[in-house]
Amino acid sequence: MSGTNVCIGAYSINISIANIRHVCYNVRVVTKRYVLSTVLVVVAVVLWQLAAMAMESSNVTLRFSEQTGSFRFVFELPDETWLNQAKVAASYSVIKISLIDSFTIGAPKLPDSIKFSSRDNSIYLNVKNLDNIKVIRLNNPYRLVVDAYVTDYKKPEQSAPPEGKELKQLTIVIDAGHGGNDIGLPVANTKESVLTLSLANELSKMINARSAKAVLIRKDDSSITLAQRITEASKRRISMFLSLHVSEGRYFSVYRTTLPAGSQTIASRYKVDTLQAAYLERSLALAQALETSLKDTFSDVDVYHREMPLPLLSVIAAPAVLIEIPNSSDFLYNAAILKSISEAIYKALASYAKK
Ligand SMILES: [Zn+2]
Repeated sequence: MSGTNVCIGAYSINISIANIRHVCYNVRVVTKRYVLSTVLVVVAVVLWQLAAMAMESSNVTLRFSEQTGSFRFVFELPDETWLNQAKVAASYSVIKISLIDSFTIGAPKLPDSIKFSSRDNSIYLNVKNLDNIKVIRLNNPYRLVVDAYVTDYKKPEQSAPPEGKELKQLTIVIDAGHGGNDIGLPVANTKESVLTLSLANELSKMINARSAKAVLIRKDDSSITLAQRITEASKRRISMFLSLHVSEGRYFSVYRTTLPAGSQTIASRYKVDTLQAAYLERSLALAQALETSLKDTFSDVDVYHREMPLPLLSVIAAPAVLIEIPNSSDFLYNAAILKSISEAIYKALASYAKK
């Protein structure tokens, strides 16, 4: 029994070892299979993602606006490389915008005189009576702006301009910044003093033609001191005061003045240098109306609203703001643009007066 037992024992042991080997072998096979299939799955996932990335195209957004004599196309692009490497070419009536990669684009509703198409990383705009184009590249967000100027422009059906009933019988004083020897900023093709005067003239024409009364502090390109401006402004009872200047870049700024601490007391309302104290809130409302209206009209130009001590505004006994218009080095001025800015300002005055 003992021999058998031993034998059986040895056999059992042998069996056990064989079993263990067998189990180990199975484990190894299973492990190998597992590793292999995992690797395959990972490779497949990576390949699938690469394929998806290759197929996935970037989004390009197109915005469109229209002004007398020109169309504006604003392409919002994915990043700086897209913006810098975008090529724009125009020949006859076609504008071709070539981009660095494939993209998807949603085109806005365009007028009948413009046909839109896209293929092979390019966008084609067929613009009837195309004369010339101007291209501007802007950051934050990355925008490619294409202005298309056309000859024989047909005026679209426009919504009626605001009636401006609210402005009736109001006196709006317009102060064109600088003048004469004081040219202000030397800007492209002109001087700040001339640009502000052109806008002052356009705006006052618009105001006078519609219902209110505009008074120009400076009617020509002559020198005028701060004291003279203040005297001119205080000669009459005024409803609003606008001082016009040019900014240092492609942006609008709307300023209102701050007064020294403690100058909002009743007494300060009668001090000449802080007459604005009684109008700070109304000046704020006027500045906000201007900011909104300029943003609505010029979607691709920044509009800032700032507050700082401005001696001229501090002495005005009426809602008073200073508006800086974009610098002509970065912004194309023509009669139509001056009209658009005037219209935006006028709308703001009317909307402010309604409140
Ligand atoms: Zn200025």
